[in-house]
Amino acid sequence: MMGFENLILLLVEAGFYFVFMVSLLHLRHQLGIGVFVAALGVMHFLETYLAAVFYIQLPFGVISPGSSVLFSGKLMMILLLYVKEDAAVVRAPIYGLLAGNFLTVGLSLFLRHHQTISAVPGRVADLAFIDEMGWLMLWGTTLLYIDALAIILLYERLGRVFKKSTAMRFFVSGIAVLTFDQIGFFAALHFLNGAPVAVFWGGWIAKMLAACAYAVLITIYLHYSRISAIPVSPRPISDIFADLTFRERYEDLLDRSGRDALTGVYDRSRLEFEAPRVLSAMLAEGKPMTLMIIDADHFKDVNDQFGHLAGDGVLKAVAACLQRSLRNNDRLFRFGGEEFVVICEDLPPRVGAERAATLRETVEAEIRRPDGQPITVSIGVANSYVDGTTLNALLSTADSRLYAAKNAGRNRVIAE
Ligand code: GH3
Ligand code: MG
Ligand code: MG
Repeated sequence: MMGFENLILLLVEAGFYFVFMVSLLHLRHQLGIGVFVAALGVMHFLETYLAAVFYIQLPFGVISPGSSVLFSGKLMMILLLYVKEDAAVVRAPIYGLLAGNFLTVGLSLFLRHHQTISAVPGRVADLAFIDEMGWLMLWGTTLLYIDALAIILLYERLGRVFKKSTAMRFFVSGIAVLTFDQIGFFAALHFLNGAPVAVFWGGWIAKMLAACAYAVLITIYLHYSRISAIPVSPRPISDIFADLTFRERYEDLLDRSGRDALTGVYDRSRLEFEAPRVLSAMLAEGKPMTLMIIDADHFKDVNDQFGHLAGDGVLKAVAACLQRSLRNNDRLFRFGGEEFVVICEDLPPRVGAERAATLRETVEAEIRRPDGQPITVSIGVANSYVDGTTLNALLSTADSRLYAAKNAGRNRVIAE
């Protein structure tokens, strides 16, 4: 009977903890995300204290609410924060917890040298306790760091397995990571403190129960906040890992902006930002830069005959085809409707003309209209060695050559 009452109490605690923390998370736009993160950090104290000394009897064994309710809850909160925000936001509390825990252990190295007095009758500072906790804290802290990264990466990976069920993603990633954690933490308890194996199983079952309860609560929460199926991130797992560990590159951040929504290639604003920089770098090194303007032939006909949506599809295919055909340092931009600009570093006039000819042939060979007719492009090419040294000069030369190519019958390259 005792065990059963304890179980009910434990579930009430988990529910209370969950509702409280999720409310802070949910109101983050009004309160600021710092309120949620600071509350999460403060809970670490109670969690560690309970896990050290506060154990209760449940029907299946002896457990601590510190590791079941609070520790499992913290991991789930970290995951939920990631789901609602992104890797760049969630890494702050992950690293904050790591740093705070190291600071705790570091400070206790100094604290032990104090001569303490007994200010409160009957209470003495238990430094032996802090000492004993030291190694365990370091190990637990490192484990928590690995757990936090692992649960997010696993959650993302599982998105490809459970496409529809967010609950399953939370549940399975929770189960896997908490099992890993229980093995890791028990190993330390066993070797440092001689904890018996029974402690492992009780704690493990409690964590599995917690994973289950939290997955259900999260699903209910997401349901009521009208987020039923969370889409799977299109980014590779390695990218998310790089973000989580502060290793995303500046260029990657830049890379995600300045993209054209339809084709995914760089947009015109990006051309105006980048081309002058590439151009001056090339001029400084005495190297040539090639610029091409590529315009689809008779594209209006595609829209007229097959509709604008089909036209969009063809445009995407053209952009993808051009992108595939580019070399190392070439860059592709959508310049306007069905016009693209390519800039190639360190490419002299004759080679630039050849590169343009290859692009033209590739599009003609690979891209079809819905009726099977080939799509062709006309290309005007300019080069910084012979046609000017500013973006505008190169654009206007390339544009007049494009115009000449159209007049000469389309599906051709004019480079001089
Ligand atoms: P040409 O270049 O060979 O002279 O003929 P064109 O029919 O391609 O003529 P132009 O380049 O002047 O016209 C561009 C057409 O491309 C006009 C518009 O219908 C179409 N277009 C522009 N942007 C988009 C777009 O985003 N999606 C679709 N489906 N069509 C577009
Ligand atoms: Mg056109
Ligand atoms: Mg055009």
